[in-house]
Amino acid sequence: MIPKTRKEKSKESGKTFQTPKGMHDVLPGDQPYWDRIERVVRDLAEFYNFARIRTPILEFAELFQRTAGEETDIVRKEMYVFKTKGGDVVTLRPEGTAAVARAYLEHSLGRMSQPQRLFYIEPMFRYENPQAGRYRQHSQAGFEVLGGSNDPIYDAQIITMFQRLLETLRIKNTNLKINSIGCRVCRPLYRRQLQTYYKTHEKDLCSDCVGRLKQNPLRLLDCKEDSCGRLKERVPNVLDKLCSTCSEHFKTVLEYLDELQLPYTLDNQLVRGLDYYNRTVFEISVEGKGSEVGALPGGGRYDYLMELLGGHLTPAVGGACGVDRLVAVMKAQEIKIGERLSQRVFVAHAGELAKKKCLKLVEELRKANIGASEALARESLKAQLKAADRDGAPIALILGQKEIYEDGVIIRDLRSGLQETVPLHRIIDEVRKRLRDKNVVEVTPIHD
Ligand SMILES: [Zn+2]
Ligand SMILES: [Zn+2]
Repeated sequence: MIPKTRKEKSKESGKTFQTPKGMHDVLPGDQPYWDRIERVVRDLAEFYNFARIRTPILEFAELFQRTAGEETDIVRKEMYVFKTKGGDVVTLRPEGTAAVARAYLEHSLGRMSQPQRLFYIEPMFRYENPQAGRYRQHSQAGFEVLGGSNDPIYDAQIITMFQRLLETLRIKNTNLKINSIGCRVCRPLYRRQLQTYYKTHEKDLCSDCVGRLKQNPLRLLDCKEDSCGRLKERVPNVLDKLCSTCSEHFKTVLEYLDELQLPYTLDNQLVRGLDYYNRTVFEISVEGKGSEVGALPGGGRYDYLMELLGGHLTPAVGGACGVDRLVAVMKAQEIKIGERLSQRVFVAHAGELAKKKCLKLVEELRKANIGASEALARESLKAQLKAADRDGAPIALILGQKEIYEDGVIIRDLRSGLQETVPLHRIIDEVRKRLRDKNVVEVTPIHD
């Protein structure tokens, strides 16, 4: 009987499956981008002494309602909230910072050395309309500095790390935007001034903004509607309204960035989408190719977040970057992932007995921490060597009847085609030596 194709089968069952809207598969072809990004994030974390934290995907919905703000789009429209069988109201985590802050308090990390420098790479969930590089499930890489003092050097360090992340990934045309949104002392004054300004233009505001005007006028600066956008041009400048402490803090952050020669743009309309930020807020986006994905890293200072969660006032600053967005930008900018010269050897066999021995040889290589690939299911040696070519391994080990009889292995240089037979007990040393001679090392330095 002729086997049925997938199409025919699905016709019979009447259904094929696809990912739910906004969810996506990362196929093997995209994996090198993900590997590279995750490696750079880990290398940066190690260099700047950040330790990894993993928090659960499910949290109580209230955690984000209380911290992000009831009025924010995240809480109003974008959270996946549901009731468990036990009656808990939980949500798929929409962002990482509140979860990290919750963990900091729950495990009394404030009693350990301060500040705590933490990082994560985790999936987040937002029920929003999928666009380029934006998915309902997406991964974010975040760096957070919690506790200690509110020294502006930490703000500068966080921004620098994200800038280095983009540089190391060779992402071009980046634009760092930075602003200060003040503190408890000066922000209420600015809010009142914003309210006064917008009230005189209330008839031009979108209905959402009319609602926000009373509760949280800062959010009006985030509105994407054209009519509201036009009003932003003459909005009072927050930097003129900062109290002297906030002003000094912001000035020092900028001085550190100057010292590091990081170019930035002051953007007095940048407020970020979450309520818990104070003082420094920043975003880095790209111009030209890749700009359609929007902000890459973004973040800021959030000194009041721990208080919102029932803890003490705890200085903190951090940010996060969408990994899916980075991948989209790297593709848009046609950034090649550095050809990874393979550390691998290819193991091939000729004959049934040799096949068994090869299986064992592969395991010995693995134990010796040498990467090995094979196509042992292919019977013909020719087909296997073809696979070796595609694989890109520089060396092949070949076992045939004659070699088994002589207790040897053929070691073949796949670039030059030269080969010799080496005694089996010496093969690991010989492979090591040859890989070293070929100078086969990963060529992905992080500070390039
Ligand atoms: Zn202030
Ligand atoms: Zn609006």
